[in-house]
Amino acid sequence: MTIFRKIIDGEIPCHRVYEDERVLAFLDVNPLSRGHVLVIPKEEAATLDALSDASSEAIGRVLPRLCRAVVRVTGCRAYNVLQNNGADAHQAVFHVHFHIIPRYADQGSETGGGLGIAWRSMGFDHGAGAALAERLATAAAED
Ligand code: AMP
Repeated sequence: MTIFRKIIDGEIPCHRVYEDERVLAFLDVNPLSRGHVLVIPKEEAATLDALSDASSEAIGRVLPRLCRAVVRVTGCRAYNVLQNNGADAHQAVFHVHFHIIPRYADQGSETGGGLGIAWRSMGFDHGAGAALAERLATAAAED
Protein backbone atom coordinates (compact mmCIF):
# COMPACT_ATOMS: atom_id res chain seq x y z
CA MET A 1 0.00 0.00 0.00
CA THR A 2 1.36 3.44 -0.93
CA ILE A 3 1.20 6.62 1.10
CA PHE A 4 -1.27 8.05 -1.44
CA ARG A 5 -3.69 5.19 -0.70
CA LYS A 6 -3.53 6.19 2.96
CA ILE A 7 -4.22 9.81 2.02
CA ILE A 8 -7.23 8.76 -0.11
CA ASP A 9 -8.54 6.66 2.79
CA GLY A 10 -8.06 9.54 5.23
CA GLU A 11 -5.49 7.66 7.33
CA ILE A 12 -2.94 10.39 6.60
CA PRO A 13 -3.91 14.07 6.35
CA CYS A 14 -3.36 16.22 3.28
CA HIS A 15 -3.93 19.80 2.21
CA ARG A 16 -6.83 19.00 -0.10
CA VAL A 17 -7.38 21.14 -3.17
CA TYR A 18 -10.02 19.10 -5.02
CA GLU A 19 -11.95 15.87 -4.62
CA ASP A 20 -14.60 13.98 -6.56
CA GLU A 21 -15.67 10.35 -6.89
CA ARG A 22 -12.53 9.36 -8.82
CA VAL A 23 -9.92 12.08 -8.28
CA LEU A 24 -8.10 13.76 -5.39
CA ALA A 25 -5.74 16.75 -5.57
CA PHE A 26 -3.61 18.07 -2.71
CA LEU A 27 -0.45 20.05 -2.03
CA ASP A 28 2.89 18.28 -2.35
CA VAL A 29 4.59 18.41 1.04
CA ASN A 30 8.04 18.63 -0.53
CA PRO A 31 7.15 21.29 -3.09
CA LEU A 32 9.54 22.21 -5.89
CA SER A 33 7.83 25.58 -5.93
CA ARG A 34 5.01 27.40 -4.13
CA GLY A 35 1.66 25.89 -5.15
CA HIS A 36 3.05 22.49 -6.25
CA VAL A 37 -0.07 20.32 -6.49
CA LEU A 38 -0.47 16.56 -6.94
CA VAL A 39 -3.48 15.18 -8.81
CA ILE A 40 -4.16 11.48 -8.30
CA PRO A 41 -6.81 8.93 -9.27
CA LYS A 42 -8.48 7.11 -6.40
CA GLU A 43 -8.03 3.92 -8.40
CA GLU A 44 -4.96 1.96 -7.41
CA ALA A 45 -2.61 1.92 -10.41
CA ALA A 46 1.16 2.21 -10.15
CA THR A 47 1.82 3.76 -13.55
CA LEU A 48 -0.23 5.61 -16.16
CA ASP A 49 -0.31 2.71 -18.61
CA ALA A 50 -2.16 0.67 -15.97
CA LEU A 51 -4.91 3.24 -15.40
CA SER A 52 -8.51 2.59 -16.51
CA ASP A 53 -10.25 4.74 -19.10
CA ALA A 54 -12.74 5.91 -16.47
CA SER A 55 -10.03 7.27 -14.16
CA SER A 56 -8.09 8.72 -17.09
CA GLU A 57 -11.19 10.56 -18.27
CA ALA A 58 -11.89 11.84 -14.77
CA ILE A 59 -8.34 13.18 -14.38
CA GLY A 60 -8.30 14.67 -17.87
CA ARG A 61 -11.53 16.51 -17.12
CA VAL A 62 -10.26 18.26 -14.00
CA LEU A 63 -6.55 18.72 -14.76
CA PRO A 64 -6.96 21.93 -16.82
CA ARG A 65 -9.28 23.37 -14.17
CA LEU A 66 -6.72 22.66 -11.45
CA CYS A 67 -3.98 24.23 -13.59
CA ARG A 68 -6.14 27.34 -13.96
CA ALA A 69 -6.63 27.47 -10.19
CA VAL A 70 -2.87 27.20 -9.61
CA VAL A 71 -2.16 29.98 -12.12
CA ARG A 72 -4.89 32.23 -10.74
CA VAL A 73 -4.01 31.79 -7.08
CA THR A 74 -0.20 31.73 -7.26
CA GLY A 75 0.28 34.25 -10.05
CA CYS A 76 2.95 31.99 -11.55
CA ARG A 77 4.02 32.93 -15.05
CA ALA A 78 4.27 29.33 -16.29
CA TYR A 79 3.94 25.79 -15.01
CA ASN A 80 4.94 22.22 -15.80
CA VAL A 81 2.67 19.19 -15.60
CA LEU A 82 4.91 16.24 -14.83
CA GLN A 83 4.00 12.59 -14.59
CA ASN A 84 6.70 10.06 -13.67
CA ASN A 85 6.41 6.33 -14.42
CA GLY A 86 8.96 3.91 -13.00
CA ALA A 87 11.97 4.38 -10.76
CA ASP A 88 14.19 5.25 -13.73
CA ALA A 89 11.78 8.09 -14.51
CA HIS A 90 12.12 9.45 -10.96
CA GLN A 91 8.90 7.91 -9.66
CA ALA A 92 9.06 7.50 -5.88
CA VAL A 93 5.41 6.85 -5.01
CA PHE A 94 3.97 3.99 -7.03
CA HIS A 95 0.45 5.33 -7.35
CA VAL A 96 -0.27 7.36 -10.50
CA HIS A 97 0.07 11.10 -9.92
CA PHE A 98 0.36 14.28 -11.96
CA HIS A 99 2.49 17.11 -10.62
CA ILE A 100 1.45 20.71 -11.34
CA ILE A 101 4.63 22.70 -10.72
CA PRO A 102 4.48 26.50 -10.99
CA ARG A 103 7.37 28.54 -12.37
CA TYR A 104 7.95 32.07 -11.21
CA ALA A 105 9.76 35.01 -12.69
CA ASP A 106 11.45 35.44 -9.30
CA GLN A 107 12.24 31.74 -8.77
CA GLY A 108 14.06 31.80 -5.41
CA SER A 109 13.74 31.43 -1.66
CA GLU A 110 10.10 32.64 -1.52
CA THR A 111 8.86 30.65 -4.49
CA GLY A 112 11.14 27.60 -4.49
CA GLY A 113 13.80 26.39 -6.87
CA GLY A 114 11.34 24.86 -9.32
CA LEU A 115 11.77 21.95 -11.64
CA GLY A 116 15.06 21.41 -13.47
CA ILE A 117 14.75 19.67 -16.83
CA ALA A 118 17.60 18.71 -19.14
CA TRP A 119 16.45 18.04 -22.73
CA ARG A 120 18.94 15.83 -24.51
CA SER A 121 17.43 15.23 -27.92
CA MET A 122 18.90 12.64 -30.27
CA GLY A 123 19.08 12.52 -34.05
CA PHE A 124 16.01 11.52 -36.06
CA ASP A 125 15.91 9.25 -39.09
CA HIS A 126 12.66 9.68 -41.04
CA GLY A 127 12.73 6.15 -42.47
CA ALA A 128 13.14 4.53 -39.06
CA GLY A 129 10.66 7.05 -37.62
CA ALA A 130 7.99 6.07 -40.15
CA ALA A 131 8.39 2.38 -39.30
CA LEU A 132 8.31 3.10 -35.57
CA ALA A 133 5.21 5.31 -35.87
CA GLU A 134 3.44 2.52 -37.78
CA ARG A 135 4.26 -0.07 -35.12
CA LEU A 136 3.09 2.29 -32.37
CA ALA A 137 -0.13 3.07 -34.25
CA THR A 138 -0.84 -0.65 -34.61
CA ALA A 139 -0.13 -1.28 -30.93
CA ALA A 140 -2.42 1.58 -29.88
CA ALA A 141 -5.19 0.43 -32.22
CA GLU A 142 -4.99 -3.15 -30.93
CA ASP A 143 -5.11 -2.12 -27.25
P1 AMP B 1 7.31 11.15 -7.74
O1 AMP B 1 8.81 11.31 -7.67
O2 AMP B 1 6.76 11.58 -9.07
O3 AMP B 1 6.87 9.75 -7.36
O4 AMP B 1 6.73 12.17 -6.69
C1 AMP B 1 6.13 11.81 -5.48
C2 AMP B 1 5.78 13.09 -4.77
O5 AMP B 1 4.96 12.78 -3.67
C3 AMP B 1 6.99 13.86 -4.23
O6 AMP B 1 7.03 15.15 -4.82
C4 AMP B 1 6.70 13.93 -2.74
O7 AMP B 1 7.08 15.17 -2.18
C5 AMP B 1 5.20 13.74 -2.67
N1 AMP B 1 4.72 13.21 -1.41
C6 AMP B 1 5.16 12.11 -0.77
N2 AMP B 1 4.46 11.92 0.37
C7 AMP B 1 3.55 12.93 0.43
C8 AMP B 1 2.53 13.29 1.36
N3 AMP B 1 2.30 12.58 2.47
N4 AMP B 1 1.78 14.39 1.10
C9 AMP B 1 2.00 15.11 -0.02
N5 AMP B 1 2.94 14.82 -0.92
C10 AMP B 1 3.71 13.75 -0.70
